[in-house]
Amino acid sequence: MSRQARIEGRSCGLVPTMGALHEGHMSLVRAALADCRPVIASIFVNPSQFAPGEDLQKYPRTFEEDCNKLESAGVDYLFAPEAGEMYPRGFRTWVNVEGLSERLEGRVRPGHFRGVTTVVLKLLEIVQPRKAFFGRKDAQQARLIAQMARDLHLETEIIVGPIVREADGLAMSSRNAYLRPDERRAAPVLYRALDGARISIARGERDALRLTAAMREMLRAEPLAEIEYVELVDADTFEPVTRLRGACLALVAARIGATRLIDNLLMEERDGAFGVAL
Ligand code: AMP
Repeated sequence: MSRQARIEGRSCGLVPTMGALHEGHMSLVRAALADCRPVIASIFVNPSQFAPGEDLQKYPRTFEEDCNKLESAGVDYLFAPEAGEMYPRGFRTWVNVEGLSERLEGRVRPGHFRGVTTVVLKLLEIVQPRKAFFGRKDAQQARLIAQMARDLHLETEIIVGPIVREADGLAMSSRNAYLRPDERRAAPVLYRALDGARISIARGERDALRLTAAMREMLRAEPLAEIEYVELVDADTFEPVTRLRGACLALVAARIGATRLIDNLLMEERDGAFGVAL
């Protein structure tokens, strides 16, 4: 399918997901459809990226609805394998991006990224897309996948789309479905903390410590929020920075009740000024 597309001068596009599709996913689908044919979406709740005790069992599954959304959007094919097909008995090969995968999300969720990069490599091998589409919502994941693609000479170009948000700023996520009404009201505090940083940067603040301290303070003011990390990092290395320079990310992870949420802000220096994307 992918080879045929290439022969005919078309690019095959892949949008990998875990289902429970929302507008964040659909924005990637639309980006793929604008650029590629055929477009393949995958739905696979990948067991290997969940640690024991995480939400694998209760992860939202809305397969029928997902199929309808993908079909109405014009997606050509859906790949929705069973866990036993992706991980047959005797499976023993793992892909790990060293260093990058041990920080931030990787530190809070040991083994998570090994599961992600392994399953994404398998999806890319199976589908052989010319382009694969990921969301900046999971900025560290997108960075790791781009690194894997480079390190392993993959022929797939990794495209990263912007974060799609609810009207009150909360980044869309399948896990938002876990939030009780009071938690849902509290959840946009992640966005507001990042937006506070955006405003300070627009006013000229460049000091990473002051920016992260202000974000922490805003998160602490929300009684339902429990901070996991607030960091300002270089967008390439994911190492902490002391001053904003080049491309940086402010990354936030917090629990709202029992639900883990993440969000981020991308800052890119252009001609001495900072372009900021929430
Ligand atoms: P998931 O189903 O959560 O594994 O997400 C599948 C893809 O959709 C990943 O590349 C995510 O980064 C992306 N994605 C999830 N939420 C959003 C969002 N709110 N905006 C943009 N992309 C998203």
